[in-house]
Amino acid sequence: MATSKQKRLDQIAAEIVKNNICPDLAKTATRLVPGAGSPNAKAVFIGEAPGRNEDRTGLPFVGAAGKFLDELLASVGLQRADVFITSILKYRPPNNRDPKPAEKAAFWPYLLAQLEVIQPKLIVTLGRHSTNCFLPDLQISQVHGQAHMWQGYTILPLYHPAAVLYNSAMRHTLIDDFAVIKTLI
Ligand code: URA
Repeated sequence: MATSKQKRLDQIAAEIVKNNICPDLAKTATRLVPGAGSPNAKAVFIGEAPGRNEDRTGLPFVGAAGKFLDELLASVGLQRADVFITSILKYRPPNNRDPKPAEKAAFWPYLLAQLEVIQPKLIVTLGRHSTNCFLPDLQISQVHGQAHMWQGYTILPLYHPAAVLYNSAMRHTLIDDFAVIKTLI
């Protein structure tokens, strides 16, 4: 049976559809990708927006970046089932274009509602878009791997796995930064 926290997360996903959030994206996307994982997660990982594979399956981070994310999680002794993974946008933007400010703003209250239900010890923002939604004045290249406080939550900005996948130096930076998670949860 679903826990009450899981039920509340399901309700938040249903509200996004019912309230017709980003109707243009809803039209071009196949389905909503609200996020997945444990409603009791100590750490919530937040990416940018669903891509093609996520749009097909309804699950976050299931493409090449997702495979890398699985490896990164394993490197700190975590599995997907231990954490909660979502993105700022819950619909795929056409051709994976960058999220628009109005789209990020439209989904923001629903992300906050998800965080309120889960109450994680740690929020890991993956990439520039996600990081700057919480910490607008910071540059990911300067603050990656450094914990910040935000409204009572600890936030750890990291590079986006997709952005560093094929750059061996940055890939190693992300692997090193990931180790910080162990000290924060
Ligand atoms: N990239 C993201 O930011 N989110 C996903 O769900 C998949 C890839």
